[in-house]
Formats: sequence, C-alpha cells, structure tokens
Amino acid sequence: MEIKEKVKCLIIGSGPAGYTAAIYAARAGITPTLYTGMQPGGQLTITNDVENYPGYPDGVMGPKMMQDFEAQAKRFGTVINSGIITKANFSQNGGIHSVVVDNKFIVEAETVIISTGASAKWLGLDSEKRLNGRGVSACAVCDGFFFKNQEVAIVGGGDTACEEASYLSKLCKKIYMIVRKDEFRASKIMQERVKRNPKIEIIWNSETKEILGKEDVEGVLLKNLITGEESTIVVTGFFVAIGHKPNTDIFKGQINLDENGYIETIKGSAKTNLEGVFACGDAQDHVYRQAVTAAGTGCMAALDAERYLISKEVYA
Ligand code: NDP
Repeated sequence: MEIKEKVKCLIIGSGPAGYTAAIYAARAGITPTLYTGMQPGGQLTITNDVENYPGYPDGVMGPKMMQDFEAQAKRFGTVINSGIITKANFSQNGGIHSVVVDNKFIVEAETVIISTGASAKWLGLDSEKRLNGRGVSACAVCDGFFFKNQEVAIVGGGDTACEEASYLSKLCKKIYMIVRKDEFRASKIMQERVKRNPKIEIIWNSETKEILGKEDVEGVLLKNLITGEESTIVVTGFFVAIGHKPNTDIFKGQINLDENGYIETIKGSAKTNLEGVFACGDAQDHVYRQAVTAAGTGCMAALDAERYLISKEVYA
C-alpha cells in the first residue's frame, strides 16, 4: 500500500478534543494533519444549543461551534482531511507509527493524537430518531436545563442513568426512571441516592415501546415486561442513558484499553502506554464527557506530543 505522507503529528477525530489538540499543535509549529473521521465535527454536530461552553454567553448551536473550532485550527496551519482511519499499526517501541486511511493509503506519524470520541447508545426506536433534539436527548447535563420545572423520563439503570436522574431532579419537577429489570446495575451509593430522592419515580421491569408526540415529546408508551401491560406517562423530555461506546475498535490490541474499550491514559497526562501515542476526549473519558473537558484534554495531548518531539530531538 502506498505511503502517502509522513507527518510529525497525526490527529484522529474532529470533535472539541481533536480540534483543540490541532490548535495547540499548530501554534507550537508541529503542523498537525487531522483526519475528520466518520462524523466530522463529532457529537456536537447532532446537538442544538450549547449553553455551557464558556465564552458563548448567549449559547451557540453545536454545528456552528464546531465550524468555529475548525476555522481556528485551520488559521494556524492544521491540514484537515476528510477520511476514516481504518487500521492502526502503532510502533511498540517508540518508533514511527502508521495508520491506513480509508483502506487506501498509509500515513506515517512521529506522534499520534487519538480523539475519536464515543457514541451514545440509543434504543433504536423510530420515534427516538424523529424526536431527537425535540425533547429526546442522550445528555442530561447538556440538555436538562431546557426542561426546568417540567416532567421528564430517563431510561437506564447504570451509574450514568442514576447520576443523570439525580442531576435532573435539581432542575425538573418530576423524573420517571425506566429500568428494564427489577434491579439497578449502578453502584450501591448511586442507587440509594436515586431511591431516596422524592422527585424520582422508578418504573421497574419496563421497556419503552414508543416515544409519543408529533413535533415535540409529549409522553412515553411503556410496556411492563412481566405482565405485558402497556401504560402511558406524560413527559416533555426523554433522556436515554443506556451507556456509551468509545470509538476505539481499531486500536484493540494496539494500545491499552479498559474493559469497556476506553483508552487508558497515564494519570495527569494524555499519554497512553505507547511512546508518541496520546489520547484525549471521550475516547478516554467515560466520566465527564463534556465539550469543555474534551477540549481541555485535547490541549494536554498536544502539549504532551510537543514535549515528546522535543525530547526525541534533544536526545536523538
Ligand atoms: P452501563 O453499561 O453500566 O449501564 C447501562 C444501563 O442501561 C444498564 O442498566 C442496562 O440495563 C441499561 N440498558 C442497556 N441497554 C438498554 C436498552 N436497550 N433498554 C433499556 N435499558 C438498557 O452504562 P453507564 O453509562 O451507566 O456506565 C458506564 C461505565 O461508566 C460504568 O462502568 C459506570 O460505573 C461508569 N460511570 C461511573 C460514574 C461515576 O463513577 N460517577 C458515572 C457514570 C458512569 P441492564 O442492567 O438490564 O443490562
């Protein structure tokens, strides 16, 4: 396969983490090359208003924010290419790393910054797709504010669902928590917090059959999985919190991942177990998952990459 180019710094992914890494790397004179991946602009391109990113006092639309990130990365000389990394061949001993793009050609890199993000898992209902952004959301911290003093539902029984239900209870009038089994998967402490919260009503053994509403969410049709009985709840918001999947499949066997597929980084840095390979954003963070934290770790990755390159030049 043809080696198309050799770069000092390759950035994989184009969400807030990737573009922030690009801004810092470009300003440091490393001239990064960024491949945008499957969803150029990342998860924010499928959200509406972003009101919690500092610097935008009136809020900003997700896609617009990502255009701004891209423009800023370009301004300092980042080379931005569309393309998906289909295979990674990382050097295990600090040598040159290589990746395959679109199954077509090879790019070699002295440093690689992985910012491939994560994808929210969805239930897979048509109504969920149709009403996405119109009351359906996979991020309570991002969108809970729009449902102040309203009644909402959240699906899931893990730590994320419990944490988000607790978060929503500070804003919303009432939260229905839809759990498909008769028990939570979440840690005991999170379970207890939810169970003790008077604003949260847990609906056990139930699945969502349909999210109701023409233009916006108006309710949820539920099915009890034991009795088969169907019922409706009236809500204006529907949060899906059934887990995320990090977009790291192509790195399996190449770098250290945890049991859920998140990239392991060395505490307090963006370093992975491999020299010259760094990770930032949601691909390595299942806890915070915010644009601003992704951007912060993108900055860390670029600074770590820059320092790594300097140390190689000094000690070569
Ligand atoms: P989990 O995989 O832990 O939990 C997913 C939950 O969603 C489970 O209750 C599961 O049900 C349910 N679920 C999955 N698919 C469906 C479906 N199709 N319909 C209905 N329900 C469904 O994901 P989380 O995002 O909660 O957590 C991921 C990891 O991050 C965990 O390790 C967690 O501990 C960690 N985390 C830690 C936090 C903290 O420490 N503060 C905060 C958030 C996450 P079932 O149990 O029946 O399979």
